[in-house]
Amino acid sequence: MTSANRPQLSFLREQLSEMEAKGLHSRLRVLEGEQLPVADFDGKEVINLSSNNYLGLATHKALRRAAIEAIRRWGVGAGAVRTIAGTMRPHMELESQIARFKGTEACVVFQSGFTANAGTVAALLGKDDLIISDELNHASIIDGCRLSKAAIQVYRHADAADCERICRETSSFAGKKLLITDGVFSMDGDVAPLPALCDLAEKYNCIMMVDDAHASGVFGRNGRGTVDHFDCHGRVDIEVGTLSKAIGAMGGYVCGSAELIDFLHHRARPFLFSTGHPPSVVATCQAAFTLLDSPEGERRIRKLWSNAKFFQRLLRKLGFSTGRTQSPITPIHVGEAAKAQEFSRRLFDAGVFITAVGYPTVPEGKARLRAIVTATHKRADLERATQILTEVGRGLGIIAA
Ligand code: PMP
Repeated sequence: MTSANRPQLSFLREQLSEMEAKGLHSRLRVLEGEQLPVADFDGKEVINLSSNNYLGLATHKALRRAAIEAIRRWGVGAGAVRTIAGTMRPHMELESQIARFKGTEACVVFQSGFTANAGTVAALLGKDDLIISDELNHASIIDGCRLSKAAIQVYRHADAADCERICRETSSFAGKKLLITDGVFSMDGDVAPLPALCDLAEKYNCIMMVDDAHASGVFGRNGRGTVDHFDCHGRVDIEVGTLSKAIGAMGGYVCGSAELIDFLHHRARPFLFSTGHPPSVVATCQAAFTLLDSPEGERRIRKLWSNAKFFQRLLRKLGFSTGRTQSPITPIHVGEAAKAQEFSRRLFDAGVFITAVGYPTVPEGKARLRAIVTATHKRADLERATQILTEVGRGLGIIAA
């Protein structure tokens, strides 16, 4: 008997069948080459509107060169967790560079944006504390909140008035309070009302934390994020970002005061108990931040935004519902998960790759396709993609024929 058919695991088949019946089961698409705007997935060339490679840095020449040079000079692995023997000079240099870029005292890099969020929230808050959280915050924030064992109060999405209601009702709470939001919401592409939330954090004495995973490299001067975009410098205690999206490599980071970072070195469990980045990834990220702060970085960010606006305008004109997006994240609302899956499948067959997202990534009944435009798409790619979207969308009754 193989482990695949042991009776102890028979529940897996039942649950997988249930997912299939609801249209919530999908297969991994395999990229057969580089992460490019037109790429080969599963042996088929498609217009790729599914990556988070906002600025096209995942395949950038200068970043590749930096990675290769770092491998030559430093080897391929850190060899230990950062707190034992795995902190290499490049780790320290990258963290100083990010802190300077963000205008904060210090920074610590985690293995991913996920561990940056979950590790930080769970380290800072405990069972006697309170977390006030946007209802659409990322899963890594939700998991961090649960791990912390703090009380959790959820406010209506991006609704500062509802957030204030909770702040008022909990104003006499004795423990620490954390107000936490995504900067840009990953499934809708809208932006948090950051200045109003900072006002509340100050008025009600909350620690203020922002996850700028989708805003770093996209919003603010040279991609400094939503804190810079809204000029909320000095009002956000904890700024999280990712190195896996616009930066093009892998990892996450937390910026804040030197004391915050010192504390995380001692208490954030992913930092303490999991090996740090290979030096090649660190060097790649250093090259990416250098590029962001150059005229080329500015050009790429401008191109990203003009492509995103172009694509979204076309979609709306054709009758697609793109919801409340304010960023290059472009939801195309469908409703039923099975229909979203079918839409995505037919688009792929016709040459456009846009993933469908359903429960539990978004609430039940709110399934959608999520398209992400990048700086490296050509106008012709986007026009061709909208033509195909129109043909397939009409066939499925998603837009009027
Ligand atoms: N926060 C948000 C809002 C995200 O969308 C994501 C990625 N899906 C993360 C954090 C996690 O980032 P990473 O992929 O670097 O773990």
